[in-house]
Amino acid sequence: MTERIREFLRNRHEDGPCMVLDLEVVQDNYMKFARALPNTRVFYAVKANPAPEVLSLLAKLGSCFDAASVAEVQLVLAAGATAERISFGNTIKKERDILRALELGVRLFAVDCEAEVEKIARAAREAGIDKREVKVFCRILCDCAGAEWPLSRKFGCVPEMAVEVLEHAYRLGLEAYGVSFHVGSQQRNTGAWDVALASASRIFRECAERGIHLSMVNLGGGFPTKYLKSVPAVQSYGEAIFRGLTKHFGNRIPETIIEPGRGMVGNAGAIEAEVVLVSRKSKDEDEVRWVYLDIGKFGGLAETMDESIRYPIRTEHDRDRKAPCVLAGPTCDSADVLYEKEPYMLPVSLEIGDKVLIEGTGAYTTTYSAVAFNGFPPLKSYVI
Ligand SMILES: *Cc1c(COP(=O)(O)O)cnc(C)c1O
Repeated sequence: MTERIREFLRNRHEDGPCMVLDLEVVQDNYMKFARALPNTRVFYAVKANPAPEVLSLLAKLGSCFDAASVAEVQLVLAAGATAERISFGNTIKKERDILRALELGVRLFAVDCEAEVEKIARAAREAGIDKREVKVFCRILCDCAGAEWPLSRKFGCVPEMAVEVLEHAYRLGLEAYGVSFHVGSQQRNTGAWDVALASASRIFRECAERGIHLSMVNLGGGFPTKYLKSVPAVQSYGEAIFRGLTKHFGNRIPETIIEPGRGMVGNAGAIEAEVVLVSRKSKDEDEVRWVYLDIGKFGGLAETMDESIRYPIRTEHDRDRKAPCVLAGPTCDSADVLYEKEPYMLPVSLEIGDKVLIEGTGAYTTTYSAVAFNGFPPLKSYVI
């Protein structure tokens, strides 16, 4: 929460929740990544916050971009970055979207199976592009232990299969470029990269035995934002990753890239919301209060799903005594409860109409908000 955001909110008088993002924080985060991992290229994960102002700032600072769709590729191009700075990092792409991305100049693609490799080879042929110029990297599964927002088994294959997938790419004339993984989002354990780096180095060795020389390890995202619990500094992640690289690759350290999303924009944003109702379910004074805000799961706070991400919430009564309450959103959907299993501590003096500030909400909020569920408009956002 910065003074610039506070100042902006003091002068804002319209109704409804809004997210305000401070670009100075994004710039500071970019510099910290660049400093903590000096020989690594940064590919900002656009899906975390695709605001044009964020993309153009990062483009100016020299960042590259990880895009999940053709629409994101176009946003990055519109922000002034050239296509060589874009990776199409989604392992699930329609062949016609691959073709479109190739036509827009993108040459770097993620895969996790042979069928996806074949789509890329066919699309390159159709676009009349020399396949040797098209690089593919294979994503491997990662157990995501220690992550507060794990990424399940949806993406990636087992390391043994990655060797086959990369060999397939090589046989089809594409450049078998490297390996990628994602250790799980909001990863608070700096040691999480070590196991994945061990697998990556084995894949490098096995491919080399087949005459295929890989060049790149994509270390993914996972770098955390501070919510309620403290998190290690980016510098500690850089050091742990460097130790892992040296341990598993010796003096033949590959080219590396990172794809921070949350860690780049999370702490740059704050949401101002309003208390719509404070109530109890019975006259029993010991019973927990319910606090309903004008923002909930469908208004941008989707990451409270399973109570995974616990945002810091500030109010004007924070010096008063606090008591547990169930925190919920405003829609007529019973899933729209933010914290109940583990109630949230809020001041007893909190009242209907009070403003609250939800911090650390620069990532994965605005684009998660529904268009008109229950008639509520999408979350407004301002970039300052
Ligand atoms: C979402 C995503 C990221 C960003 O992850 P964070 O945990 O937000 O840093 C990076 N890479 C890929 C491929 C992703 O899908």
